[in-house]
Amino acid sequence: MTLDEYKAKYKLRQMGGFGGYPCANTLLCGNSRRCKAMHDECLPPKPVRDHHSGFRDKNGAILVVFQPYISNNLEEISAVAQAWAASKNLQCRISVEDSWHLPGETVLVEFRNPSPLRKPKKESAKK
Ligand SMILES: [Zn+2]
Repeated sequence: MTLDEYKAKYKLRQMGGFGGYPCANTLLCGNSRRCKAMHDECLPPKPVRDHHSGFRDKNGAILVVFQPYISNNLEEISAVAQAWAASKNLQCRISVEDSWHLPGETVLVEFRNPSPLRKPKKESAKK
């Protein structure tokens, strides 16, 4: 499908600019301040880590999306994605039909927090 069809199907809004590449820390902590240099721990390893993008659903929950090439071994992609998701307590969804980056050649891998954070209010950060 196309990017527009994907966004329409799941009622998503693409994240842009500085926050356009969310990671595990964005999902779990609401920001990427806990990231070590260059996201090494907070992005999935290869072969999953390819064609990174980010979306918000209609409730504001973030989806971290990767679209690796199917030719990089779909079974391994699936195994690595699920192992990484489990290690971070994230949900993982994999779909060959929903990929929009070179459709048919890539697989869509989505990560989300099973209990999404609410947008933090200014005062709730202090406690
Ligand atoms: Zn990060």
